[in-house]
Amino acid sequence: MNKKSAAIGIQTIAIHGGESPDRETGATAPNIVMSSTFVVDEPVSFSATNVDENSPYIYTRWSNPTTRQLEIKLALLEHADQCLTFASGMAASSAVLFSLLNSGDHLVMSNTNYPGTAEVARDQLPKKGIEVSPVDTTELALIEQAMTPNTRMVWIETPSNPLLQIIDIAKVAEIAHAHNALLVVDSTFASPIATRPLELGADLVVHSLTKYIGGHGDALGGAVLSSAALASRLRECGVLHYGATLSPFNAWLIMRGAATLPLRMRAHQENAMALADFLHQDSRVEHVLYPGHPSHPQHEVAKKQMNNYSGILSFKVKNPARVAERMMKQLKVIHYAVSVGHHRSLIYLLDTKDLIESSYRLEGAELAKYKAHAGDGLFRCSVGLEDAQDLIADLDHVL
Ligand code: PLP
Repeated sequence: MNKKSAAIGIQTIAIHGGESPDRETGATAPNIVMSSTFVVDEPVSFSATNVDENSPYIYTRWSNPTTRQLEIKLALLEHADQCLTFASGMAASSAVLFSLLNSGDHLVMSNTNYPGTAEVARDQLPKKGIEVSPVDTTELALIEQAMTPNTRMVWIETPSNPLLQIIDIAKVAEIAHAHNALLVVDSTFASPIATRPLELGADLVVHSLTKYIGGHGDALGGAVLSSAALASRLRECGVLHYGATLSPFNAWLIMRGAATLPLRMRAHQENAMALADFLHQDSRVEHVLYPGHPSHPQHEVAKKQMNNYSGILSFKVKNPARVAERMMKQLKVIHYAVSVGHHRSLIYLLDTKDLIESSYRLEGAELAKYKAHAGDGLFRCSVGLEDAQDLIADLDHVL
């Protein structure tokens, strides 16, 4: 199945999109093509400038049949014209930032988002002459104020890491486009099952495939989805020249994970709701952030743009360092580990001092706002697919 069709259901696309039985052997599962090079029957240009999505396979850094199958599946799931894959989510983000922004350009980015992206923006882009304004993107007026004649890109993450802020994609797209800037959405925490940012006006969607789409914690990967025109701007520099190519083996693993994405997202949401209810009524817990709960500060935006509230929640307790120590020693089901979106539940303390000093560098009112939600540290829990009662019992024991 290679073509967009409004009539085809999301579960069918997740399973069959980009795939078809092998013509030679009839194998129903996709083959893994590990070959780095391909025999051609006529001379093919070697230059990255001459490559597009219809070019023949010549070398796996250009394109690869297994990786291409995954790209088609993801494009169908996101309702995108094109998908380009990368070796990790960070490789995808860096490819977008470094190939679509140039010296003299200005970027507006969320002031709290995935720390890797936050650090690339604050530390690396200015070295290339790109000015960056981190702003609280939950406040549309602040985005508008930050726009300058040189703003070429607005970058949001929704839900964001670790505050789980929900940013109004359609409204931010209006602001970005009124200033001739591109809107990029890191939609890793949502997945295409919860939100399809391109349909809400975004120009590019970034995913860490390492999270929900792969879903099993065994393969790093990244993807960018966009129009064909933006994909071709990204392909030459971001894919072929920078060369952070997704391994075909990882593409195959991620494709297998993606087949069950709609079913897994439903189960992640159900379990996260159960944990959010448990944490909300527990007196040891001071604050819970889950986009699906009416108490979430942007719950109304979440209702509008999310078809599924995903499986990540954050919560605050007194003495988080002591609780983290207990978790490391005593959790039996939930793994005390970073990352999100896997079938296994994961929990990790995101220490406020560490994040503020190393990644976000917030001061004054912005810092106070962050601390109002996070205190000295926020536990980010990626709720997996185990039985909810076992996850609740595990947390109950260590809180
Ligand atoms: N975007 C978000 C929202 C993330 O949480 C992460 C990683 O945690 C990334 C991007 C980077 O992804 P990767 O670890 O695959 O490079």
